[in-house]
Amino acid sequence: MKQSENPKFLGSEELLGWDEVNQGVLLESFNGEVENAAFLKQEDRNYAETNSFTASVADWRVIKPVFNRDYCIDCQFCWMFCPDTSIISRDKKMLGIDFDHCKGCAICVEVCPTNPKSLLMFEERKDIDDALAEWPAKENKEGKE
Ligand code: SF4
Ligand code: SF4
Repeated sequence: MKQSENPKFLGSEELLGWDEVNQGVLLESFNGEVENAAFLKQEDRNYAETNSFTASVADWRVIKPVFNRDYCIDCQFCWMFCPDTSIISRDKKMLGIDFDHCKGCAICVEVCPTNPKSLLMFEERKDIDDALAEWPAKENKEGKE
């Protein structure tokens, strides 16, 4: 059953709570017909109100990734591995983090291959400029000065 067919929802603009939705209900991801959504940038997609993209989960996070452009090689590993599609990349260029949807899991930091890393985790309230000022130096490989 579509949410719009649910008697409790009919004629109402109000969304059901998560514990009020019937089993088997279909929550639509997009409004209207959808063609080639995979080829559209997120900001150009016509997301339905029931799509999780319309909700911010920023306040779930206690630590956040900070991006340092100076070391990034645009390898796209962070973009591929982020489980919340929260790495913003356009034309294969890493641009930053979607802090409305990032949950602070640190997987992007784990997979970043640069030395030093181009993404590091900091406390949520850390000022970005302060975080960048504290960035570690390149680590020497063992046996090299
Ligand atoms: S911390 Fe996790 S959710 Fe946030 S951008 Fe990195 S991989 Fe994605
Ligand atoms: S994984 Fe690191 S180097 Fe690769 S695009 Fe992401 S931030 Fe840049």
